[in-house]
Amino acid sequence: MCDDEIVRHAHAEARRLSRRDALRATAVASGLVLTGVGGAAVASASPSGRVVDLTHALSPNFPMWPGNPPFTAVQTSTVGPRNSGYATRWLGFAEHSGTHVDAPAHKIGNGITVDRIAPANLVAPLVVISIAGKARRNPRALLTERDIADFENRHGRIPRGSLVALHTGWQPSTGGPDAAGFDPDAVRMLIVERAVVAIGTDTMSVDIRDAVGAHAAILGSGRYAVETLANLTSVPPLGARVVVGAPKFAGGTGGPARVLALT
Ligand SMILES: [Zn+2]
Repeated sequence: MCDDEIVRHAHAEARRLSRRDALRATAVASGLVLTGVGGAAVASASPSGRVVDLTHALSPNFPMWPGNPPFTAVQTSTVGPRNSGYATRWLGFAEHSGTHVDAPAHKIGNGITVDRIAPANLVAPLVVISIAGKARRNPRALLTERDIADFENRHGRIPRGSLVALHTGWQPSTGGPDAAGFDPDAVRMLIVERAVVAIGTDTMSVDIRDAVGAHAAILGSGRYAVETLANLTSVPPLGARVVVGAPKFAGGTGGPARVLALT
């Protein structure tokens, strides 16, 4: 059955069922194949239809930068018997938890807050540069200007307006705060010579531990960073686009974000 046939079949089945069951059948069919808006099918925004989630699930077990409290979730109501109520939870978390955005205000006194990052800068070409090899040997390895030159020789020039993400191989299950990061000179080169909109990393910080230069360079230029990205090996080094679902906390220094790559 093709996608349309599945949906038509679901609708035909639905007519024979009660109204409540009909809604459920349609929802199941839609979830399989397409997004329903007002009952109409809309095509995927991704040319090949592949959307890669670059976001880690956030839970109380997720590692935090030293000194930050863990994510907490408290059930405040439940659906109850025969679906009589609504389920809700109260959440508590530091802004820099899980896969998250650093706004300029995180490091710069008069920097813009997360709610004021221009929406146009939250959708960008995605570039993934891996230094996983040297990061395995040296937990304080840096992405350098030389690494960027090597990357461009192999894959082509970094497009203007990109988000450049660093892949180090860091994993939340085993990785601590000691991890690879950006050489501040490389960040300045990406800003000045490649006009990036942002940088990102699969680690908890764009800087190696006890350093601040990469944060100061990217946030000091009015740009943002994304930390603790997931699944960077599931997207091509060049050619995907990224959508950064930054939160709109008024006055926020950052916040957990849903980050999606369209390949
Ligand atoms: Zn952060």
